[in-house]
Amino acid sequence: MSKAVFLDRDGVINLAPPQGKYITSVSQLHILPQAPGALKLLKELGFRLIVVTNQRCIGKGLISADEMDNICLFMNRRLESCGAGIDRFYYCPHDYSNCCDCRKPKPGLIQTAARDMCLDVKSSYMIGDSEVDVGAGLAAECKLVCYISRKKYQNNRVLNCRDIWDAAVRIKENTQEVPLCLRRER
Ligand SMILES: [Mg+2]
Ligand SMILES: [Zn+2]
Repeated sequence: MSKAVFLDRDGVINLAPPQGKYITSVSQLHILPQAPGALKLLKELGFRLIVVTNQRCIGKGLISADEMDNICLFMNRRLESCGAGIDRFYYCPHDYSNCCDCRKPKPGLIQTAARDMCLDVKSSYMIGDSEVDVGAGLAAECKLVCYISRKKYQNNRVLNCRDIWDAAVRIKENTQEVPLCLRRER
């Protein structure tokens, strides 16, 4: 089984749209300057990169699923040219009223990705900028969740991070920590 980093998209890899707005065309997509380097670092650490994103703009009829796929493709061409390509995108297209199992904070997107791609969630990480990302990562039982926010989330499985680069460095440090059970007294 592979290990993965599950990533929220808006506000983590690209600039978040204003509150209540959605990215419905590639012209609105601005990749954050820290993102390619951070994603590349995570790939070098052996992680698969999986985007898990809530996009209820599809359920609201503001954009079609095909258009959403095109935005993700466009994003990935840009990232791939920096050696930072995403392995797969998963999105929840549903509006609240659908009561689906995939809209974060439910763990459905992560669980589906894990099944499809044979991922070991317990040795995987989640990076997000919203409390629903933290909720999904914890519910899916990821090893740790990196929360990019000025707010602080108090939980021993949550790392409060500045941005995606900070999150990638913290994940690197965490993977290199020697587990307590293997430490020896000198
Ligand atoms: Mg977000
Ligand atoms: Zn859904």
